[in-house]
Amino acid sequence: MRIATIKTFPVFHGSRNYLFVKVETDTGLYGMGEFGITWKEQAGIGAIEHMKRQLIGLDPLNTEMIWQVLFRGDFFPGGRINTAAISAIDMALWDIKGKALEQPVHMLLGGRLRDRVACYTGIGGKTPADTARSALEKVAAGWKYLRLSVSDRDGVLEPRTAVRDSVAHFAAVREAVGSEVEICIDVHTRLDPPDAIRLGRQLEAYDPFFVEDPLRCENPQTYRLVRQHVSVPLAVGEQFASKWEFRQLIEEELLDYARIDLCIVGGLTEARKIANWCETHYIKIIPHNPLGPVSAAACLHLDLATDNFAVQEGGLIGHPVMEDLFPVQVPYAHGCLLAPERPGLGIEFDEEAASHTEFRWLHGPRLRRDDGSFTNW
Ligand SMILES: [Mg+2]
Repeated sequence: MRIATIKTFPVFHGSRNYLFVKVETDTGLYGMGEFGITWKEQAGIGAIEHMKRQLIGLDPLNTEMIWQVLFRGDFFPGGRINTAAISAIDMALWDIKGKALEQPVHMLLGGRLRDRVACYTGIGGKTPADTARSALEKVAAGWKYLRLSVSDRDGVLEPRTAVRDSVAHFAAVREAVGSEVEICIDVHTRLDPPDAIRLGRQLEAYDPFFVEDPLRCENPQTYRLVRQHVSVPLAVGEQFASKWEFRQLIEEELLDYARIDLCIVGGLTEARKIANWCETHYIKIIPHNPLGPVSAAACLHLDLATDNFAVQEGGLIGHPVMEDLFPVQVPYAHGCLLAPERPGLGIEFDEEAASHTEFRWLHGPRLRRDDGSFTNW
């Protein structure tokens, strides 16, 4: 079996684009991947065009060799656009491998360790009472893990105000749902160390499951400072591309949960290595999944086959999403993904439907400080 061609499908859906990648073989088997750097889809298409010409004619089952060639083959490190493009191709190759060997991908990653994969879902509201109401609705629908976000006020994010607001919303949710439902909070890199520490300390009384990404990813050593001052569990890593970007945080045990993004980090091949490395430090994985049905399926297979797994980001899971493009998706029930029996990733892609989709030139949402200056979204 040989790789015949690679096709890219940018798809505008909801409020953003998704980029799906189809690897076709000369036997008719195909695999699907997804690119994870939102708002840089055209750069992803360009990177994949460069890679395609090196891959046509190769055996798609040689996933490790292909990963090494794509990561190191052109001498200059390609950054996270490159690893996101590798991710999409790599998961498509694992999809092909599963189909060729007639096994679900998780059986090739070590086999099935659990019956189902618990997911968390997002909650939020204008006021603490609104957020508590949103939490109760999700709990009634079967979700046992909830996540709220450090939020702005109408596009303005002042760190000290945001910390006070976040603690008030978190406290209201804890009061509403009791102690048996797990509550997480995503800082989304919106704070710097002093306010991240204030937030972590003030949340300790409400028993958060994790506090996510208090800081941006450029300076992993800054997590030492946060770690020294808070006792809440930290979940970090959705911006990281490759095992090397996780290295310091894992080796110094600066995080409790690794937020591996399979569509950025380098696909299933790289995520498998990082998950195993985490195991040696008692760190669990919580794969990042804000994307579409291919990302959800890839995360599910890794979760099923990884002992040190905690919970899965639900993202769009639980809602009907792109059913015209993906008429077969991985199974879901009551806040959990279930083990797919189909070979490969367990999804089907309708290329004809995808040929009618549109792409829109977009950029990320913008937040500002009270004085008009820019701040992280
Ligand atoms: Mg996040």
